[in-house]
Amino acid sequence: MAFEGLSERLQKTFSKLRGKGKVTEADVKEMMREVRLALLEADVNFDVTKTFIKKIRERAVGSEVLDSLTPAQQIIKIVNEELTQIMGTSAVSLNKAPKIPTIIMLVGLQGAGKTTSAGKLARYLKDEKRARPLFIAADVYRPAAVEQLKTIGQQIDVPVYEEGTTASPVDIVQRGLQQAQENKNDYVLIDTAGRLEIDDQLMDELSQIKALAQPNEILLVVDSMTGQAATHVAEGFNQRLDLTGVILTKLDGDTRGGAALSIRAVTGKPIKFIGSGEKLAALEVFHPERMANRILGMGDMMTLIEKAQKDYDEQQAEELARKMQENSFDFNDFVAQLEQVQKMGPMEDIMKMIPGMGNNPALQNAKMDPKDLEHLKAIVYSMTQKERQNPDLLNPSRRRRLAAGAGRPIAEVNRMIKQFKQMQQMMQKMSNGNMAGLEQMLGG
Ligand code: GDP
Repeated sequence: MAFEGLSERLQKTFSKLRGKGKVTEADVKEMMREVRLALLEADVNFDVTKTFIKKIRERAVGSEVLDSLTPAQQIIKIVNEELTQIMGTSAVSLNKAPKIPTIIMLVGLQGAGKTTSAGKLARYLKDEKRARPLFIAADVYRPAAVEQLKTIGQQIDVPVYEEGTTASPVDIVQRGLQQAQENKNDYVLIDTAGRLEIDDQLMDELSQIKALAQPNEILLVVDSMTGQAATHVAEGFNQRLDLTGVILTKLDGDTRGGAALSIRAVTGKPIKFIGSGEKLAALEVFHPERMANRILGMGDMMTLIEKAQKDYDEQQAEELARKMQENSFDFNDFVAQLEQVQKMGPMEDIMKMIPGMGNNPALQNAKMDPKDLEHLKAIVYSMTQKERQNPDLLNPSRRRRLAAGAGRPIAEVNRMIKQFKQMQQMMQKMSNGNMAGLEQMLGG
């Protein structure tokens, strides 16, 4: 997960302040030194760090903090606001042409994830905007690029305009745009060539394509794992092409986060999307305020809720809410819940979005193997309906019967029953609107 180091260091710094009733200027100075080091270590651009620290210091030594009864909270609030600010305040949506098609040109260095991001973006447009996009394959230098785009096109049912690798990219784009007109595609995504580094020839070609296509969006696809280099690349492309935005890829890896925090401040151009995996569904709209919350370990309930809405079976969710209220959550629901949660992605990533869970040691063990789920199901299916509804019936001899029935060790049966009871209690607490209950259960 991205930002791990930065997140840990910032939270450690702030936890030192938490116990203090009164914060002095010397405390603020010491804290700022630590924040500065944390940012530089996360590969945040030097000038960005400097400006950031200056702003925080000005605000933190003001009466807003020093006279406050809860100085630590005040400082965290300020850091949160300023982090949000350097990443761009709020999400910026895609530009749209006044009349179809909206033309989106994707540029970037080789390996940044350009072709994959073209696929993700097309899928996003289809899903969210009911769009009918067309790809234009204008990367003629990397022979596999055209094939890769065709494969992606087949997967998500998006047509690809291509002429192999012999024609000139500018000609391909021109004819591709004609086809989009004829077929009334509402979006056109142009996949352009990349190189290992920025060179004049590449930039000239991209400028020519830009002049011809007059795109509504020129999105730079940049790899967050490259840290400072990503910021330089963004600067270079922006100078030559005047970008409209950035897609920051590979934020699922253990990137230190510097690119996410620097690009907007250095180029003035917004990060519009982030890539969070190799799959075509792994694209998220970039929300600076949510990212700041995640960095500060305050969770990201909004993204979690949106994810849940997308992946969760609505009827089941309603049913669960009712059961939580009636306190009738049983083993059948337990299995259904585990299945639902599994659909949302790796457990450890989901838990991190819950406020206060970011650096919870219990999370280290939150990984769940799909095989484990099968084992749990086997145990539940060995129960009678009465037992499923009332775990108190499960005395030692019944537990032995379940272990034998499911072919699992008795210790596993005991563990599962314990987990179930905890989950039941947690549900009760949550239905009373007490999120801290969840934290307690998992931390305890
Ligand atoms: P291009 O040369 O810029 O077109 O790059 P590709 O689209 O071929 O991507 C290069 C590699 O990065 C491929 O192996 C992709 O699967 C991978 N990739 C792209 N985006 C992401 C992402 O957000 N997360 C991860 N983990 N891998 C990604």
